Amino acid sequence: MSDSREGLLTIDLQAIGDNYLDLCGRLASGSRCGAVVKADAYGLGMTEVAPALYRRGCRDFFVATQAEGERLRAELGGDVTIVVLTGVRAGAELECARAGLIPTLFTLQQLRNWVDLCAQASIEAPCAVKVDSGMTRLGMTPEEFEQLVADRELLAAANIRLLLSHLACADEPAHPQNRVQLEDFKRAGERLRAQCPEVLLSLANSSGIFLGEEYHFDIARPGSALYGVNPLPGTPNPMRQVVELSLPIVQKRHVSSDRSVGYGATQSVSAGSWLAVARGGYADGILRAQGGRGCGWGSGKRLPMVGRVSMDSTTFDISGLSEAEREALESIEVLNGELTVDEVAEYAGTIGYEILTSLGNRYYRRYLRS
Ligand SMILES: *Cc1c(COP(=O)(O)O)cnc(C)c1O
Repeated sequence: MSDSREGLLTIDLQAIGDNYLDLCGRLASGSRCGAVVKADAYGLGMTEVAPALYRRGCRDFFVATQAEGERLRAELGGDVTIVVLTGVRAGAELECARAGLIPTLFTLQQLRNWVDLCAQASIEAPCAVKVDSGMTRLGMTPEEFEQLVADRELLAAANIRLLLSHLACADEPAHPQNRVQLEDFKRAGERLRAQCPEVLLSLANSSGIFLGEEYHFDIARPGSALYGVNPLPGTPNPMRQVVELSLPIVQKRHVSSDRSVGYGATQSVSAGSWLAVARGGYADGILRAQGGRGCGWGSGKRLPMVGRVSMDSTTFDISGLSEAEREALESIEVLNGELTVDEVAEYAGTIGYEILTSLGNRYYRRYLRS
């Protein structure tokens, strides 16, 4: 897609780099900052974002799938570690090892398979192990982890590079579960390191970094904060905004009598109103849930969305603009430094992560470099 008439998505790689350095500066001495670039770098384009982070010194990357890892490896070459957070498909172990990807393993069975297959193929490939400390999603159960630390033979054969766990409530600093998970993970780390002293520990996502130095361990794994999502919901956002999304106006109209707008006639405007219909709808990540609540930005003002968001277009009330402003208006921004991913997420009843990962592929994408 090469035409900005379809909407212009601007992604500020300089801001992502600045956010990375900002997070690095917050870490305890001795811990380093990785970057999570899964889901195409949260929708912003992994092949552009990862090299920008690499240039800022990032060498530890995290992706969700093996396919993402293979793409990233082709992009970045050999001197980075790439951890696949959702593990390895049974049968794909050797492919994963040969691609130089570090799978996150969640069960003893997976770990045994990995060790056996790598030994048979004479590959010495590192892996990561995830232990569940309270998220109850992926990770070894406490019982399995006990069996792992008791199995000296397996530990000696497995080349465990990293022990991971994930916080469930890091964006709520006062939540008591944070400390419980911290203590649990610390204990797990100590037990594993007693036998494998080289294992590195990693717990903190973006918000986890802000919980304090105890949470940083060897490697932090931020994603969302790099891309401008507020790691401290409800308080001022310390991160720079990264995306700007501008939708071209395809029709402006004067309303001569009171009438309803859009599907379902859910909302009405009164005679004398001015409306602008912009190209870009829920197929482009303008989440339908913000219909009637969200807003756009034009001539330095917030412009309310009216009626439901359609698949390919969204209607805004531009009656608040002067005639000159209205006539000059050619596009409406739906994300920018003022209208942040977090604000838009609130209109849609979701989180900034979903706003970013929903951005469609019909936009012309422009990357700002330093
Ligand atoms: C997505 C993910 C992260 C990054 O989380 P953010 O909240 O975006 O910083 C870190 N660790 C794991 C296991 C993840 O799945």
